[in-house]
Amino acid sequence: MHNKYLDQHEWQIIESQWNPEKHQGSESIFSLGNGYMGQRANFEENYSGPHLQGSYIGGVYYPDKTRVGWWKNGYPEYFAKVLNSVNWIGLKIEVNGIDLDLHHCEIKNFKRVLDMKEGLLHREFTALLKPGLEIQVSCTRLLSMKRKEIGALRYSISPINCNPKLKITPYLDFNILNSDSNYDESFWDSVSENVGSQKAVLQAKTKKLDFQVAASMRYEFFIDDHHFTLYPESLKKEKYSENSFEIQAESGKTYTTYKYAALVSTLNLKAEKLINIADSLASDAMKDGFQTLVQEHKNSWSEKWKNSDIKIDGDIEAQQAIRFNIFQLSQTYTGEDSRLNIGPKGFTGEKYGGSTYWDTEAYCLPFYMASAGQEVAKNLLIYRHKHLQKAIENAEKLGFKNGAALFPMVTMNGEECHNEWEITFEEIHRNGAIAFAIFNYSRYYGDESYLAEYGLEVLLAISRFWAQRFNFSKAKKKYVMLGVTGPNEYENNVNNNWYTNYIAKWTLEYTLDACEKVKEQNPNAFSKICEKCNFIAMEESNMWREIIGNVYFPRNEDLGIYLQQDGFMDKELLEVSDLNPEERPINQHWSWDRILRSCFIKQADVLQGMYLFEDHFSKEEILKHYNFYEPKTVHESSLSPCVHVITAAYLDKMEEAYDLYLRTSRLDLDDYNSEVHEGLHITSMAGTWMSIVEGFAGMRIKGDQLYFNPKLPENWRKLNFNINFRGSILEFEFSKKGFSIQNNSTNHLSSIVHDELYSIPAHSKIEISYP
Ligand code: BGC
Repeated sequence: MHNKYLDQHEWQIIESQWNPEKHQGSESIFSLGNGYMGQRANFEENYSGPHLQGSYIGGVYYPDKTRVGWWKNGYPEYFAKVLNSVNWIGLKIEVNGIDLDLHHCEIKNFKRVLDMKEGLLHREFTALLKPGLEIQVSCTRLLSMKRKEIGALRYSISPINCNPKLKITPYLDFNILNSDSNYDESFWDSVSENVGSQKAVLQAKTKKLDFQVAASMRYEFFIDDHHFTLYPESLKKEKYSENSFEIQAESGKTYTTYKYAALVSTLNLKAEKLINIADSLASDAMKDGFQTLVQEHKNSWSEKWKNSDIKIDGDIEAQQAIRFNIFQLSQTYTGEDSRLNIGPKGFTGEKYGGSTYWDTEAYCLPFYMASAGQEVAKNLLIYRHKHLQKAIENAEKLGFKNGAALFPMVTMNGEECHNEWEITFEEIHRNGAIAFAIFNYSRYYGDESYLAEYGLEVLLAISRFWAQRFNFSKAKKKYVMLGVTGPNEYENNVNNNWYTNYIAKWTLEYTLDACEKVKEQNPNAFSKICEKCNFIAMEESNMWREIIGNVYFPRNEDLGIYLQQDGFMDKELLEVSDLNPEERPINQHWSWDRILRSCFIKQADVLQGMYLFEDHFSKEEILKHYNFYEPKTVHESSLSPCVHVITAAYLDKMEEAYDLYLRTSRLDLDDYNSEVHEGLHITSMAGTWMSIVEGFAGMRIKGDQLYFNPKLPENWRKLNFNINFRGSILEFEFSKKGFSIQNNSTNHLSSIVHDELYSIPAHSKIEISYP
């Protein structure tokens, strides 16, 4: 099902052969990003084989007109998409008049390396353009972690036993299409093109919303180590500027172009300032030089790794995989800007439009809380608070009232972008994840001030939605929720999805609890919130209590389990082992109709609820549900394996946990679902982090303590990671022989391991050996 194409290495991803069929996948895997922008691993030189040119700037999006078969009232007018933006890496290379294009020449010694420690992408190859005309190329690229607007590259050519004429053309190009555009439209209009000697600047604006982006480039040229003065020719066309120069090259010498680009947008600057600022940023980058940019970039990465690295001793495959996941997460979201979020594909592809899903709250938040610190985590929460008004309008559009909010399934600016009724209108459990994130954040930081600041308003609006979405069934004498899609998207329009009912009821309880807390801790803030939200506590909370006490949960008493939905037991109850392996993934082989009627589960659903609310259930109960549901789960959502790793480890099913760990962590590296060419599964990468920290190390927050119940896979000798807990960094090391905890902070801290409380004074370490 999966393939082992890439080489194993602790810190690097290595592709050591040229395989055009894998190229689009590698373009995703070797992507670079810096939280501000991202770049797929496209080639600098022309490439005419299949590829997806992709350069994206966070928050610069386009409202693409919706395309649907049959319009339903309530559908959004458009789907906001992250925009494929200017190609800044471009460098055309002609050798004796022949275009260097890997699709048309013979390639030897190809190697592509993503150095995750340093955040650099390297590539080298030898190209035979025609008999007797051979060159060796080596290049390195970065998207600066220090100077967010800057990308830079070094591109060296060495002729082999020939003295060709080289023509080198650095360019900027805004003639870019989104591959996922609904009507094949171009989204960019030109504002201006400028080109000078060894520099160019382009400015373009989106056809709608008037986002403007300016890109500026500078470059310099060296023969071996000597700077060479150029007299280039320049050319500009609509949305395109280039410089080109020719040089008579000699065998044995190396010809290197350094290209520096700056990308700025009206997300942060006024349109009239863009060109000047882009130009001066690119010029500064060139003045400081490539080595300086590399060095400061490496320093930033080294800082990032200090708190986020996970070391696994004894299993290089697992080690490489977790670093790849952490690397991609750190490239996608850096948390300085609360208008940005984490798209399921980050900056590595266009599927899912680069927009925000429930993935952020349900999967990504824990990673950022533990490795990036409170401000970053808080920005992820504030993002939804900023969208509250739009979520209320969204619910109104569907007929809800009185400040009820339905947050979108997919969004860029708070408006719903998704348009399949069974998901847009029915996959409403997303509201629950947003409420849970507020709880999770407050629990992690032991700080309830977020509730009064922003959280309670969001909770009230979500609870209002749930209270209106439940209805009282006279037949059942219970509150039921009809016509929903649970996390398992392989069933739609079901009644009483257990997970949705559970998280809805929990939200009502938590909101009442939050009201009490804010009222007690900050009565002023509480009255202001009540006034602002028109919340008459007595009236609404009585209704909520009535619902809380009477929610219906489908259950099979013979099996002693909750049912995923009312009709689950009517299905033909098969297991994944009954499936023909040739027909997997089923979503690529079966009709949708067959999938919907089958019992096969795309991703954790009941088990998702038991994962979030583990302490509401006994271990025996969780085991029964795991044994019933996991064998029916095909894990065809990237978000699925990680939750199962955590539950399997909790239930001591270590072999299953390990297999599922490889699946979540190497999903893209080994292309388990045959779709890596579309981009990486960024949000599930945070699930991979949870698999280790919450799965194998068994981390939980209990009361005010970090709690661990480590169980390492068979072949792992040691597991090390840091956790940023309430402002203090703690270093954990777990092995089969014992564990140690290093407290790097000035506070005295304590932690529970295997149910025992250990106290760790400031700046000290405890080491415990098992008897
Ligand atoms: C999953 C959703 C998820 C989305 C984006 C879908 O395949 O079923 O749960 O939100 O992908 O990652």
